[in-house]
This record gives sequence, C-alpha cells and structure tokens, in this order.
Amino acid sequence: MSLSQDLRGSIRSIPDYPKPGIVFRDITTLLGDARAFRRAIDELVQPWAGTKIDKVAGIEARGFILGGAVAHQLSAGFVPLRKKGKLPHTTVSVAYSLEYGVDEMEVHSDAVQAGERVILIDDLIATGGTAEAAVRLLQQIGADVVAACFVIDLPELKGADKIKALGVPVRTLMEFEGH
Ligand code: AMP
Repeated sequence: MSLSQDLRGSIRSIPDYPKPGIVFRDITTLLGDARAFRRAIDELVQPWAGTKIDKVAGIEARGFILGGAVAHQLSAGFVPLRKKGKLPHTTVSVAYSLEYGVDEMEVHSDAVQAGERVILIDDLIATGGTAEAAVRLLQQIGADVVAACFVIDLPELKGADKIKALGVPVRTLMEFEGH
C-alpha cells in the first residue's frame, strides 16, 4: 500500500472539534496502530539516515511522542519545547500568536550547543505559528535547524511558507484539505 493510503487511513478525523469548522486530525489512532506508527517514524527518519543529526526537538505534546522515537532511531538527543512554566532550569522563551490571544513556548537555554544540527518534529502544521516560534527559539539558542518535519500538512493555511521563509526546509508525509 502507498505511504499516503497506509498512513492516512490510520488518522481519525473529528469534525467540529475543538470548535465548529475545524476538522481535528487525531493521531492517537496512528500511534495505537503498531504498523502505522512504525511506518510514520521510518518515513520521518528516512531523509536523515546516515547524516549527522545532533538533536531532535519536539513540540509539546504530540511532538514528544514522535520526536522521541525519531531521536532514538537517529541516535540523536531529544530537546523538549514546552509550554511556559514547565521546564525547571534556565529557559529562553518566545511569545507567539494563536487564533485568540498569545502563548509562550520555552526551551532550556543549554539544550543545544552552538551550531548543533537539529530537526524539529510535530504532528501537524496548520498556520505554522507554533512551528515558527519553535524554529526561532532553537535558532536563538544557537541551533542549526536543518529541517522541520510533520506527519500532516494543511496546505490551505500555508504554514510551510512561514517556515521556509526562515530558511528552514519543510517535510510533511501527507496533506489534508481544510482547517
Ligand atoms: P499552527 O500553529 O496553526 O500551525 O497549529 C499547529 C499546532 O496545533 C500543532 O501542534 C497541532 O497539533 C495543532 N493543530 C492545529 N490544527 C489542528 C487540526 N486541524 N487537527 C489537529 N491538530 C491541530
């Protein structure tokens, strides 16, 4: 079966969640399907096999699950990017806009060494606001962000363009229509 068919079928779509007009793309069904989970991780890892990746950075919370597995496969370290107030040591933070209001994302200031090659992982890119904040944060602490990788792209929202504008290539495994 093609990658797209195989993986797409493992993702559950929930209309009007968390609010009317949004179709929530739920990856818990992918994570719970051993074959699909393994396939998704293999596909995220594939471009980097045999290259030097120092760290994988994952965005809380679904990016932790995917990013942890990718880091293990690449023999790389893992860096959690967390919501404000969760990390215990000295942090660097960045504010970013959500649809309503703003949020803050943090990383430990010593989580990467200057120049380390880092890939960013999350489950889904929508408007790209979250991933843009993540890239800026990683760059601020000296990371060389070599790519941002997602299982799902919602291309209508043009999030990938925001990340490419920061000079960071984007890789996604599949696309869904809508928001
Ligand atoms: P954005 O900052 O707009 O790119 O939103 C990306 C973040 O919100 C990711 O961490 C996603 O997990 C989550 N997200 C946004 N839209 C959806 C959706 N339709 N289904 C599932 N998760 C979503």
